[in-house]
Amino acid sequence: MAERRVLCVGLVCLDIISVVDAYPAEDTDTSFVLEDLRRRGVQLPHRVVHAGCAFPTSVVISSASRGTRTILHSNRNLPDVTAQDFEQVDLSQYKWIHWEGRNAAEQVKMIQRVEEHNRGCAPHQRIATSVEVEKPREELYQLLGYGDVVFVSKDVAKVFGFQSAPEAVRGLSSRVRPGTTLICAWAEQGADALGPAGELVHADAVPPARIVDTLGAGDTFNAAVIFALSAGRGLQEALAFGCEVAGRKCGVPGYDGIV
Ligand code: ADP
Repeated sequence: MAERRVLCVGLVCLDIISVVDAYPAEDTDTSFVLEDLRRRGVQLPHRVVHAGCAFPTSVVISSASRGTRTILHSNRNLPDVTAQDFEQVDLSQYKWIHWEGRNAAEQVKMIQRVEEHNRGCAPHQRIATSVEVEKPREELYQLLGYGDVVFVSKDVAKVFGFQSAPEAVRGLSSRVRPGTTLICAWAEQGADALGPAGELVHADAVPPARIVDTLGAGDTFNAAVIFALSAGRGLQEALAFGCEVAGRKCGVPGYDGIV
């Protein structure tokens, strides 16, 4: 009879090991991020500090040959901003407020607070609102019904069965309130929008000489579009500006030198 062997039951895991000179000291991640935002002129006057929570972190594997990325994200215990946190904000300081869709039910309450504020304002003092629905998650779809401007990602558009940005903005128009501007960016195909009067607008992508890093291209696009619209520029011009800045971002690692 053959010799009996050892049987192991379990899971095999591939370890990818990063060797560093020294592991960052505790809280240096927070200091690094705060300093980086400050350097770029982003203020954090309403920051809510949660002692004992870990800083959300992603390890990103970026393919130099294809420009694609694989993201390993960890957010162990940092809570999202709540409507109660948002109560502390003095709305009169702002002309535009943007929500990245996360804890949608709470965010709806925040938007409703702004809408209430707007009802009591002269038209020129009203705050414009925008929301982004990036992740294909059922809970986030309620946000489509809020905001003067709604950004929908191509991931969400595809889940709804649309194969292009113009198809998506047309097809999703029944889910937004009349008068909403609906915007969908679609990587190298640029971006399309449906304006408040139902007009379709398109801007071509502005590809860099070489794609280096597309991580954050969508966020860059959103930021540039909001910047342009909030400065009073038209939808066509804002989309073109979004594609221009996002395209520039794709040609460099990180965000330095894109504006
Ligand atoms: P993300 O994948 O970060 O969500 P998107 O696909 O939404 O990014 O693209 C946002 C914008 O970035 C696009 O409208 C386009 O202007 C620009 N962009 C993204 N990828 C490319 C690319 N490969 N070439 C040129 N522009 C790109």
